[in-house]
Amino acid sequence: MLPVLYIVVPCYNEQEVLPITSGLFLKKLLELAAAGKVSPASRVLFVNDGSKDDTWAIIQRLAVQDQHYEGICLSRNRGHQNALLAGLMAARSRCDATISIDCDGQDDIGAMDGMVDAYLDGCEVVYGVRKRRDTDTFFKRFTAESFYRLLNWMGAQVVFNHADYRLLSSRVLEEFSNYREVNIFLRGMVPLVGFKSTSVYYDRAERMAGESHYPLKKMLALAMDGITSLSVKPIRMITGLGLLVSLLSFIGVLWAVADSITGGTVQGWASTVCIVCFMGGIQLLCLGVIGEYVGKTYLEAKARPRYIISQSTWDPGPEGWRKGGE
Ligand code: UDP
Ligand code: MG
Repeated sequence: MLPVLYIVVPCYNEQEVLPITSGLFLKKLLELAAAGKVSPASRVLFVNDGSKDDTWAIIQRLAVQDQHYEGICLSRNRGHQNALLAGLMAARSRCDATISIDCDGQDDIGAMDGMVDAYLDGCEVVYGVRKRRDTDTFFKRFTAESFYRLLNWMGAQVVFNHADYRLLSSRVLEEFSNYREVNIFLRGMVPLVGFKSTSVYYDRAERMAGESHYPLKKMLALAMDGITSLSVKPIRMITGLGLLVSLLSFIGVLWAVADSITGGTVQGWASTVCIVCFMGGIQLLCLGVIGEYVGKTYLEAKARPRYIISQSTWDPGPEGWRKGGE
């Protein structure tokens, strides 16, 4: 029996690029099926992440045109990671393996052959890794690479220069569904599941159309989620810093006492203010970092659903029926 493959594609306001890349995904799927590597029952599954443009209408149209296209629609915009998770979980029971890929054509679709080959060789996880970052601006390249280094230094095991282009077997997805956390950073969580894995390398191109939805603000939020959901090292660093500052203060107190005993008291207004400011700053910083974790705990404790699917191309839902499937 040939494995059923689902290509899972999160889409947010992608009406410009979707008409171009949807054809490329289908072409690759049909090629893989013709080569006898995957079952003809394989599909391209689009996840509409609460787009405000015509993205969902395009997906619905594609699903009508060709049975290889399917789509689910989230009830509102939940962000790339949640949208991807929704797609993977929806595909889980329908397939043997998924490949997740962005819909903007930046990731080389040709790398899917290598991924499927590795899967057929017995790998359960295949990471798509960028060879070079020539097409990125210096700023994006520098911040992204520093981020991977920082994460690894903090003890999180992320694959260097791997984003969310990867193959996952349904077995891994089944295990992954037990990770119930709300703050998700998939590229850091997948290695935690384990199983046999490998990497395939590819060149990343420019976006084919439309524009990036990852401005600096979202990138920083993703980085913060990545660090705080994978590592408690910042808390340990704060403890270490606290110890160091305490030790220094202790020495300072000894010095001040000795100084006043020997009668050499100083008019130390400036130094006092400096110390007060320094301490205040450090304390606020530490409180901020701890607060970050407390906030995360609060969100996890509420365990709200990570996404809500309002419609799908195989089940339009009450809203869809009312509008006649449109
Ligand atoms: N995306 C999404 N929800 C969002 C933002 C982005 O589903 O809130 C999707 C987007 O449609 C694309 C992928 O995530 O398929 C990566 O986004 P983008 O290409 O804008 O990021 P970049 O490649 O610039 O980092
Ligand atoms: Mg992109």
